[in-house]
Amino acid sequence: MAVYEIMFAAEKLEDQIGVLIDKHYPHLQDFTIRLIMAPKAWKRSGRVVLAQARAGSVRERVLFGVHGWIEIAEDIWEADPPVLSLELQEAILDHELSHFEVKETLVEDVLRLATVPHDIEDFLGVIQRHGLYREELQALGVVVQGALPLEEKPA
Ligand SMILES: [Zn+2]
Repeated sequence: MAVYEIMFAAEKLEDQIGVLIDKHYPHLQDFTIRLIMAPKAWKRSGRVVLAQARAGSVRERVLFGVHGWIEIAEDIWEADPPVLSLELQEAILDHELSHFEVKETLVEDVLRLATVPHDIEDFLGVIQRHGLYREELQALGVVVQGALPLEEKPA
């Protein structure tokens, strides 16, 4: 059995998350979201995954006071020389925070976090053949039209 070493994230990363929460996710301010480092990036459905968010279980919440987890691939995140720009790191963390939604628990007056799926899931080939055939894709189209690539965004 492999030993899975869990490391807590560096302070810089905690600060980055804190800034994002204050700016875009004030509803998450009262929740404890733990950042943990996985030693290496991993693959899901053939794609390299650099980070993932998961709502804490009832046990994790009750026993440890942790409402959610964000796991980050240390080999890519801390690569020297850097592989990810600060802007890209921020975009990734912003993405992971978007996976959290506040829900009521079965017990009254206690709130918990739930993990929500992505707004959009589709295939490029289908969009090429059929256009923006769903409402979500049309909304994406509007956002994409006004968006610039990360490296061209004003700071
Ligand atoms: Zn995601």
